[in-house]
Amino acid sequence: MPELPEVETIVRGLARRVIGDTITSVWIGSRPQPLKSPAAEIVHTLEGTRIGSVQRAGKHIVFELASNGARSQRADAGAHRPRNSRRVPVDTLKNRDRGASGRGSAHWVVHLGMTGRMVVCEPGAEIAKHTHLIASLASGRELRFIDPRMFGKLSVHAAGFDPGGVEPLDVDEETFVGLFRGRKTPIKSALLNQKLLRGVGNIYADESLFRAGIRPRRRASTITRAQLGKLYKAVREVLSEAIALGGSSISDYVDADGEEGFFQLQHRVYGREGEKCQVCKAPIRRVVLAGRSSHYCPRCQK
Ligand SMILES: [Zn+2]
Repeated sequence: MPELPEVETIVRGLARRVIGDTITSVWIGSRPQPLKSPAAEIVHTLEGTRIGSVQRAGKHIVFELASNGARSQRADAGAHRPRNSRRVPVDTLKNRDRGASGRGSAHWVVHLGMTGRMVVCEPGAEIAKHTHLIASLASGRELRFIDPRMFGKLSVHAAGFDPGGVEPLDVDEETFVGLFRGRKTPIKSALLNQKLLRGVGNIYADESLFRAGIRPRRRASTITRAQLGKLYKAVREVLSEAIALGGSSISDYVDADGEEGFFQLQHRVYGREGEKCQVCKAPIRRVVLAGRSSHYCPRCQK
């Protein structure tokens, strides 16, 4: 599952390729699972808009859409389209108020879920199985969303998207520390709570807690200010290292044939149950917390 660093890498790759391009037409497949906004609304919001920016919000990819004024003509569906697809009845939306999207601040939000991918390719490129959306671009290329397991999500937000929580890489130390004050939940659960911090997943939470020397089950409210300061640095360090690795290893991930996968940060505890701690040689332990595996060193983490 792509976590924050992987999504960041994908966002940078997409930004390089599609910023400034205009979405001329949109095709959406017949499977409803990935659509978190009605298909017609997605098409209506995307078509005729220019991609102003591509940014990451937690684990979401956010395309900022600037209206181009005139709505462009939609091209015909083309013979290479997969079977079992449908054109969306955009006309039904013709008279609806476009809301903020008409003022140029609509957001198209993509969450990759477990297996989602966004690729930029030539229109002649073979359409992969499980392609759920194809956006044709004025530059002649296509932006495609592919997701075999369909835990990914596509949505549009006319007035802009608010993912909640704070960005771990943008937040200052005092705000970070304040997130955990008085919380009786285990620190690991608090780190995974997307309403507090956006985009920190299971792997990076475990790795950050190891570097900060804090056990995953410790109640957040019992952790000292000094330890939370260490945790703040650890979270940022772990995420930044992973982004740096991703940037150098998967820069072509968003190209149609880029399927190399992600270069993983060397895990120190995650997935290493029973193996020796790299610092003290004690065997790494695993506990289940709120249904998720947590890995820690019983000697280095208190
Ligand atoms: Zn240890």
